[in-house]
Amino acid sequence: MGTEDKYAIIGAGPSGLCGAKNLKEMGIPFDGYEAASDLGGLWNIKNENSTVYESAHLISSKGMTEFEDFPMKDDVADYPHHSELYQYFSDYADHFGLREHYQFNMAVKKIEEVNGKWKLTTEAGISNLYKGIIIANGCLTHPNIPNIPGNFEGELLHSKDYKDPSIFEGKKVLIIGAGNSGCDIVVDAVHRAQKVDMSVRRGYHFVPKYIFGKPADTIGGFIQLPRLLKQRIDKWLLNTFFVVNPQRLGFPEPDHKLYESHPIVNTLVLYHLGHGDLRVKKDVVKFEGKTVHFKDGTQEEYDMVLCATGYQLHYPFIDKNHLNWGEEKAPQLYLNIFTPHHNNIFVLGMVEATGLGWEGRNKQAILVARFISEMEKGSHKAQQFFQKIQSGMPDMRGGFEYMDVERMAYYVHKDTYLKQIKRHLKMLS
Ligand SMILES: Cc1cc2nc3c(=O)[nH]c(=O)nc-3n(C[C@H](O)[C@H](O)[C@H](O)COP(=O)(O)OP(=O)(O)OC[C@H]3O[C@@H](n4cnc5c(N)ncnc54)[C@H](O)[C@@H]3O)c2cc1C
Repeated sequence: MGTEDKYAIIGAGPSGLCGAKNLKEMGIPFDGYEAASDLGGLWNIKNENSTVYESAHLISSKGMTEFEDFPMKDDVADYPHHSELYQYFSDYADHFGLREHYQFNMAVKKIEEVNGKWKLTTEAGISNLYKGIIIANGCLTHPNIPNIPGNFEGELLHSKDYKDPSIFEGKKVLIIGAGNSGCDIVVDAVHRAQKVDMSVRRGYHFVPKYIFGKPADTIGGFIQLPRLLKQRIDKWLLNTFFVVNPQRLGFPEPDHKLYESHPIVNTLVLYHLGHGDLRVKKDVVKFEGKTVHFKDGTQEEYDMVLCATGYQLHYPFIDKNHLNWGEEKAPQLYLNIFTPHHNNIFVLGMVEATGLGWEGRNKQAILVARFISEMEKGSHKAQQFFQKIQSGMPDMRGGFEYMDVERMAYYVHKDTYLKQIKRHLKMLS
């Protein structure tokens, strides 16, 4: 079969793999392209695009993250290490026979529309025409580098390039950013560095990994409370019983309510702050030699500054207009998947939500596979579905006022999102 009768999938991370599995199950022919030499996406630390570090574990528990039809083994930890996750994806690909559909070391450089089909060109200069493309190249690999005036004369790096805590040995270290990666990394640094500070722009809500002896994300799903009540009660419970008040330890008061940004699932940071092993500093305003100037007028000298300042969405191989992406912080995709401009370009994995896990990405993939299958049959349902995509976006925020920052621009409320996916799946059945 020629490629013109097939679909192409870009990426063999969790999103690409479940995309491949669902196409395969629906009998839709496809080719997979993966830039790295193996599958697993960012959970394969050997993949040069991987943004995990040696100490990285899941921050959501395994039961809330795994694919429903492929549970992790009983002997896998509640919050598995990245190496266990690489093994999991490897087993998943073998179980569903996905590996043989992929070409590895095959980065996609460009996709261009040609008479309603898509010409895909690889970095190696190979071009093929496809019926459609599924983009699953990940959201957390293109570093967001802060624009700080001045020049830092010590070592300056982004968390993307951080792998091993030995780099901190005996040094004076500043970590910028207190997101989940920043907090993991600062805990690594505490055990090696001579001095560790953490610069934060805002306060965060901290959640422990265990509550009442169970993974925290498995608690609280039984009683559905109104949003405002839930925010208040959960905040009170957390700060009264489960975590030390972060403001007592130097963190500013959060400028957002609980659940309006991704919570920080790490209480070790608070533990080390409480032991005086590290300090919280204000926002950085300037570098000068090895001196870092902070917003409150203080200054400190460091050997190393590590920016744990997050990632930007990055689809360098396709014209942004095709993804309905103008000046907004993220492509304006229906259900974070479908562009209103084409019925044969799909994005998988451009979604974040507390508790969505890989099963949430799998649900996206099921919907895409069903849509393609109905389109292939020329069904009326598929046409109606595409008209709906072109008629406006459903709200998936569940009433939450998410922070107006890039990383929250494609954030959804899990239950609202899954309900929408279910509703849309019904339209195609
Ligand atoms: C430290 C850390 C902790 C995390 N913890 C959790 C957690 O606890 N729970 C959770 O649900 N999520 C977590 N995440 C989020 C994570 O993004 C998802 O778990 C998941 O890896 C997303 O899968 P993906 O397939 O969309 O992207 P990725 O895993 O990034 O895979 C994308 C793949 O596409 C390939 N690719 C990229 N560009 C090209 C190209 N041009 N051509 C061909 N191939 C290409 C890449 O090489 C990669 O293999 C965490 C992320 C990090 C960094």
